[in-house]
Amino acid sequence: MLRSGLFTKRFNSTTTSLASGRTSQVALLNFPRASLLSFSSQTPRFLSSAANSFTHLKSQLSDPTLMTAAGFIDNEFIATSSSGKHFAVYDPAKGTPIAHLPDMGIEETERAIQSAKQALPAWSQTTAKERSTILRNWYNLILENEQDLAKIITWENGKPLADALGEVRYGASFFEWFSEEAKRLYGEVIPSPNRQQRMIAIRQPLGVVGIITPWNFPNAMITRKLGAALAVGCTVVAKPASETPLSAIALYELGRRAGVPKGVIGLVTTHHDTKAIGKHLCESQDVSGISFTGSTAVGKLLLKQSADTVKKVSLELGGNAAFIVFEDADIDKAVDAAVLAKFRSSGQTCICVNRFYVHSSIMDAFGERLRERVEKFRVGSGMEASTTHGPLINKASVEKVRSHVHDALDNGAKLLTGGKESENMHGYFYPPTVLTDMKNNMRIATEETFGPVAGIFKFDTEEEVLEYANNTRFGLAGYFFSKDVSRCWRVAESLQVGMVGVNTGAISSEVAPFGGVKESGIGREGARQGLDEYTQYKYINMAI
Ligand code: ADP
Repeated sequence: MLRSGLFTKRFNSTTTSLASGRTSQVALLNFPRASLLSFSSQTPRFLSSAANSFTHLKSQLSDPTLMTAAGFIDNEFIATSSSGKHFAVYDPAKGTPIAHLPDMGIEETERAIQSAKQALPAWSQTTAKERSTILRNWYNLILENEQDLAKIITWENGKPLADALGEVRYGASFFEWFSEEAKRLYGEVIPSPNRQQRMIAIRQPLGVVGIITPWNFPNAMITRKLGAALAVGCTVVAKPASETPLSAIALYELGRRAGVPKGVIGLVTTHHDTKAIGKHLCESQDVSGISFTGSTAVGKLLLKQSADTVKKVSLELGGNAAFIVFEDADIDKAVDAAVLAKFRSSGQTCICVNRFYVHSSIMDAFGERLRERVEKFRVGSGMEASTTHGPLINKASVEKVRSHVHDALDNGAKLLTGGKESENMHGYFYPPTVLTDMKNNMRIATEETFGPVAGIFKFDTEEEVLEYANNTRFGLAGYFFSKDVSRCWRVAESLQVGMVGVNTGAISSEVAPFGGVKESGIGREGARQGLDEYTQYKYINMAI
């Protein structure tokens, strides 16, 4: 029996041995009256509305135990913080609170680090096959619970339920992939230059890894990192975004059931102490690596903070993707891809298009067809079956998008559709917008909008458009459309990005290396290369 998170202090759960791969759980329930008193800055009405929502949402799950308002440390769900504080998680479609999570701090983070450190020797010495089995169990459990996990994503992130389901399956694919790759962590036998020695290089786990994830893929950004880290034998302390911690918690519950041993995965929920916890993870001598997905500014900060302990840092940061449509492109195909690559998750993915460059001879035709498609979108709550596009994550996001649109219009852009906000929508909505006649001095040319706004710039030559596309410090993804094979190779090789979509707007896959160049990041996620971020080589020289 489990109780609603707000009133549940902790579940002491015991996980049986790796060998059996089976789990059992003993839930011990306490009622933390004191923690309720700690919501000092919030009104009783606010608190009871969140508690009611939480209970109501839980009751809509096939397995309500997946929804817990707690961090996870040393194999226990912990629903109170040492400071006694909590923070609210909001439904972006309504702007109302749906849960209160313990606002953890350095004390809990250190406990999670020590627990992960303690678990490391045993976990790193499990066989690849044992780790693979657990990841596979976890993958199966995610698929068995995919509808519940999708609902949780939609409630806290806002994306339409069908997209959330897509994310759950995409997220699960990383566990499937890394459960397979775990068995292929090959080292090298190096031909020795002399007859007296033999040389080999083996690959070993980094150690304890700190993982910090964003809100735009609350499920898949966790699994993409956890899958690789666990596959090679690392242990983990993760900090999910404070906007979307519930998806991470649900995943952890399934991880526990899948047989992940005590201490191997920790989860610290926080809002107010985000900065301090990030610093602590970076500076701790017991943490050997940091893997972060989020903004470039925070990524740079984490990189600096990790310098003193010389950590391996893997960063997946902001982008400013160009989408180029050459004069010989299939315009309909390009428009289909634009709809996906620009407006998926309402423009809130790091590989979303930020700048459309369309050849001047087809700019009007492309703009018109894109406008027609965008006007068919249905914006609303992600839980409505008819909704194609949900809200943005918060008020600040709406304000940023609005300011980018105003800046473009003030500087001479033409509005093809959108741009006018509805007063009837109470959540964090912005209408899907298409602008044309964009100029290089507008903010959208250099800043990531992270919202549902397509700004179309025109160009005349390949040379010119490559210069525009590469004229940015970002380099995550780029897309272009052309039927000329030579041009396809030339442009793909010339774009200064980590990932290129040629005649497609869908590039993410667990089997391909995801990551950026320039200030968009360091390292790769998914694919065979994803394991590199969590391993180091050890060279062994043996005299014979
Ligand atoms: P966004 O602007 O998209 O929210 P952020 O980079 O701010 O991107 O957030 C990505 C993740 O980084 C989230 O988990 C967030 O809580 C965390 N974060 C934000 N600021 C810091 C910081 N100073 N140190 C560590 N983590 C941070």
